[in-house]
Amino acid sequence: GQCVLVCPTGALGERDETDKVIDYLYDPEIITVVEFAPAIRVGFGEEFGLPPGTNVQGQIIAACRRLGFDVVLDTNFAADVVIMEEGTELLSRLKRGVRPTFTSCCPGWINFAERHYPEILPYLSTTKSPQQVLGAIAKSYLPERMGLDGKRIRVVSIMPCTAKKDEIVRPQLVHDGVPEIDVVLTTREFARLLKREGIDFRSLEPSEFDNPFMSAFSGAGAIFGTTGGVMEAALRTIYYVVNGRELEQVELSQLRGFEGVRAATVDLNSEIGAVKVAMAHGLKPTRQIVEAVLAGTADFDFIEIMACPGGCVDGGGTLRSKKHYLNHAQKRRETLFAIDRNAKARQSHNNPQVQALYRDFLGSPNSEKAHKLLHTRYTDRRMETTWTVSEIWRELTMST
Ligand code: SF4
Repeated sequence: GQCVLVCPTGALGERDETDKVIDYLYDPEIITVVEFAPAIRVGFGEEFGLPPGTNVQGQIIAACRRLGFDVVLDTNFAADVVIMEEGTELLSRLKRGVRPTFTSCCPGWINFAERHYPEILPYLSTTKSPQQVLGAIAKSYLPERMGLDGKRIRVVSIMPCTAKKDEIVRPQLVHDGVPEIDVVLTTREFARLLKREGIDFRSLEPSEFDNPFMSAFSGAGAIFGTTGGVMEAALRTIYYVVNGRELEQVELSQLRGFEGVRAATVDLNSEIGAVKVAMAHGLKPTRQIVEAVLAGTADFDFIEIMACPGGCVDGGGTLRSKKHYLNHAQKRRETLFAIDRNAKARQSHNNPQVQALYRDFLGSPNSEKAHKLLHTRYTDRRMETTWTVSEIWRELTMST
């Protein structure tokens, strides 16, 4: 395959793994499961000349079926599960006076924190990213529900970034030699796979998800693909958990701009008071906020970090154009917001498949079983290097 050598060790370049996926698809012994990220459905059409922000979810599902995948799942479902776990974790940390909590769904950010600011690691949520949550339950809950042999399952993940390829080989996410996710394809690789298999994307009839266990999603899960989305999604659920009723103003417009750092305050209730939240994307804003936290000058409870400016809608594995950046990313995120507005449920806890997962399998959020399957840990991997911080950042977030 093609390898873009941009780092001295060569380890972090984009590896083309379409061959591996084809091997799985043609192996009758293997049950192939595929998932695709929230941002993929609003960026992928551009690979085939469709206008930026076109929602091609239905065509992606159709393409996955045409390729021969046995089970088509949605990473958005796992994003909802992440909110249940991370929201519960945040609440228990707030009650213990631990603050702030950083989000943990962006592996570019995790790599950077481990390599450059290991002192910050105790503040990271231990909840795995949606990609890994999906993989972990696709190899445990799904076989149980569907009567499949878990050992035969291989999970392929279609993602907007190459940092996701590093994530799947983290030793914490491989158990007795079995990874939670077997292969990550970037947007570009998925397009290449379709072309290699002779699938004409534009002529595909849109299809629907049909898996009854792991494909439904709420509006909250859908907006994970853009900056501020994780924060908004989490607040909707946290508010419900502490008050027993829904947050009325579900859209947090203060978090929806394109500035590097944005902040908002949301009143929870008299016991917990107001939560101060912030989100940062891109290198400079991330450094600023991390250094302020370490210096004790930042007053936040919950901080979302996305390595890519704009979030995954403009990730390093998608079509990117500096000139059109705002325009394209803006259109993609607007479509995500529209998916949220039109969703049957707008809160993760109202996703019926998430409710079933907890009722039938996990017990409750942050239960022992949930901890074992859906949480992880981080390690100090401080880099002994002469690189500048921005060089490290570029490598770890892979804006190829
Ligand atoms: Fe990947 Fe960028 Fe999204 Fe982080 S923000 S998960 S590096 S695409």
